[in-house]
Order: sequence, then structure tokens, then C-alpha cells
Amino acid sequence: MEIHFLGTGSAYPGSERDNTSLCFSNDGYHVLIDVSGNPCRKLKQINVDLEELDSVIFTHFHIDHIYGLPSLLWGMWLENRHKPLTLYCDERNEEKLHQWLDTMEVYEWGIQFPLHIKTFNGDHIEELIINENLHISCFPALHSVPTIGLEIRYDGKLIIYSGDSEVNSYIQTYEYIDVLIHEATSAKKTDPIHTSLPEISDSYELKSIGKVILVHLSDKEPYDEELSRLDITEKVQTAEEMMCINV
Ligand SMILES: [Zn+2]
Ligand SMILES: [Zn+2]
Repeated sequence: MEIHFLGTGSAYPGSERDNTSLCFSNDGYHVLIDVSGNPCRKLKQINVDLEELDSVIFTHFHIDHIYGLPSLLWGMWLENRHKPLTLYCDERNEEKLHQWLDTMEVYEWGIQFPLHIKTFNGDHIEELIINENLHISCFPALHSVPTIGLEIRYDGKLIIYSGDSEVNSYIQTYEYIDVLIHEATSAKKTDPIHTSLPEISDSYELKSIGKVILVHLSDKEPYDEELSRLDITEKVQTAEEMMCINV
């Protein structure tokens, strides 16, 4: 399975990174996690045809995680997509999503593909997607609005995604995590709804994690200095735009 980092930036406007969004690709099955800037271009750059994308999971409804949706749907309509697309969102955001689709007049464009909306209750652990050996579940994250983290199991490996959250004690309950993709909105400063780099090294048992990849990063934050100071450069790395890892 491939994990593509389509955007790696925090909500703060930055010059170096687009807002955080990932694409998990497994043997022709593609799921986008949140939709940030220019999703069609980025999917094309990773050779995922707009016809191929299977689903989108919204972790929460802050603008930096959802604003690319109109562009994604518009591109799919222009390319005459036919395959159904499933949008997963928290049940508390379902009405907003419908209102947004209505405001964009998506159903008046004449889209040729069914748009399925599936809801979950982000306060609970729920299985969202099972595709052959790829299983994706959600768990509650700790943020200012209803937000989920994701547990991705693939081929005996465990990947945890916590893209916008303070330190989450639920993540501490796993015995071993192969890849932890975690937000680090700041390198040093603490923030009640986000995570800083020292909080990651203080709160998670790094020896029980294979690799930590940091996303939701802000411009001009001294990540490299902090990683060196904390002596965790072997274990923890900052994600780069359009980077891809194989799991
Ligand atoms: Zn965010
Ligand atoms: Zn947020």
C-alpha cells in the first residue's frame, strides 16, 4: 500500500505547504483523507485517475480539510466520471455537507456519477472501509470540533493517523504502531487543540512505534532544531509535500 502526502501544512496560511490531505492507495483502491488545494492536479501527479478514486473521508469540517471538495467534484464532472464516489463524514456534519453540495448546485451540473454520503459517529470507534486486506476505522480525536483519527490496518501492519488533534491517550493504548502519522502544528509552543513536537516525544512511547511522520506543519517553525534537541531524528521525520511511503 502507498501513502501519498498530498498536503502537509497546518491551517495557518503558509508559503511552503498546502493544507494536510493524504491518499491511501491499495491495489487499485484509492481513498482520500480530507481534501485540500487542487486535488485533481495532485491525484494526476500520483497517477490516480479521477475516475479511479473510490472514497473521501473527512476527519472534520474545518475549512483547511474540506475546501478542495468543489474542485474535486468539478474535475470529476468535466472528465465524465461514472463510478460512484463515497463521502464519509461525521453525522453531525451531514446536513452541512448536503447544504454545501446544494449551494454548489452539484446535482444541476449533470454529474454522471452517484455521490454516496455515509455517516459515522466520531465519538465512537467505527469501521469505515474494508477493502480486501485494507481496513480503516475511526476513533475520536481531541480538537475544537468533532474530529476523528484513523486506524489503518494493512497486511498485518498498523498505521495510525491523527492529523488535527491534541495528544490523544487513545493512541497510547496500542502496543505497537508501525507508522504514526501525527500532527505537529508547532515545533515548541503548546496549543490546547493541537500538538507540539515535544508533546509527541513526551506523550507517546516512541520505542513502541516504528516511525513517526509529522504533518499539519506550520511555516517558520524550528522542527529540525527541535528534532535534534530531542534526539529523535532517527525515529521522527517531517513529511514533505507529495512524498510517498510504501507500507
Ligand atoms: Zn487543520
Ligand atoms: Zn482542525
